[in-house]
Amino acid sequence: MNAISGKIGFVGIGAMGTPMAANLAKAGYKLVIYDIDATRTTAFASAHEVEVAPSLAELGKQCGTVITMLPDDKAVCKALCGETNNFQNCAVANLKVGSTVIDMSSSSPVSTRELGRLFAARGVKFIDAPVSGGVKRAVTAELAIMVGGDGAVLEACRPLFEKLGNQIFHAGPLGAGHAIKALNNYVSAAGLVAACEAVIVGQRFGLDPNVIVDVLNASSGMNNTTKIKMKQFMLSGAFNAGFTTGLMAKDLRTALEVAREVHGPSGLAQHCVEIWNEAESALGPAADHTAIYKFLERAE
Ligand code: NAD
Repeated sequence: MNAISGKIGFVGIGAMGTPMAANLAKAGYKLVIYDIDATRTTAFASAHEVEVAPSLAELGKQCGTVITMLPDDKAVCKALCGETNNFQNCAVANLKVGSTVIDMSSSSPVSTRELGRLFAARGVKFIDAPVSGGVKRAVTAELAIMVGGDGAVLEACRPLFEKLGNQIFHAGPLGAGHAIKALNNYVSAAGLVAACEAVIVGQRFGLDPNVIVDVLNASSGMNNTTKIKMKQFMLSGAFNAGFTTGLMAKDLRTALEVAREVHGPSGLAQHCVEIWNEAESALGPAADHTAIYKFLERAE
């Protein structure tokens, strides 16, 4: 299969989409961008040589490849298939047979498989390729990319992925990338809560929180939160890691959906979903996910 050529539609110029689209534009790809928030596309177009599509339907007309970087599967379905999957006013409505859609959002694998069936009927190729690494690694093009779907489509997209990340995995068939992404964020979110609880309890016991983190990092309790997030974003009071509580809670609900689909063990995942759902209600979905530290500080 040939490498992708022609214009690329990029839908979702948010916290992650902005640096990712910027890296593609800098690499010479011809981008046509769209976001429901026009302030985002205007700001992006003032800094990069791209076209702004007046609508998703227009974006689809111009492009042979469409990338989505949207909050969740509902936004992805709406942007690609329109309200109620009616293929009105959406990106896929005008895509030619043989075009490729790449969903890089953290979506639901169940909904991704359903989209795969709808797109196959229209002759449109579809892969899921969610990412890990946050805004910082999106800027430096050091994302981990986990791809689900046809290996030949992945190979055609590989040169593009290499402009966004430095670790590219073929996770399995369509939906596998989204499943692994949700499971990864479950492990990350469970570890984050464990680290917060340990630091808060230790402090109440009279310990210095910085010493607790140093000891955890020299010991078997070390994890991504103790290494990267606790001092920089939580103990500092900055709470600005760039990933929201709402998105993390959504990823955990997806992980639980996957566990239930396969009747897998999910006792801790269920409890984690409850904690993150409560944090999302208390802090608001837009709060940085590291602010769960403040929410847990208030808990007994
Ligand atoms: P964001 O909210 O900053 O960006 C999403 C963008 O999509 C916004 O600009 C919004 O206006 C736009 N949008 C929403 N609905 C739309 C629609 N129907 N049509 C067109 N545009 C629409 O979110 P983000 O942090 O960039 O995350 C995007 C995805 O990447 C999510 O699935 C998230 O879980 C995942 N992710 C985020 C991070 C992170 O650190 N922020 C890391 C890895 C993965």
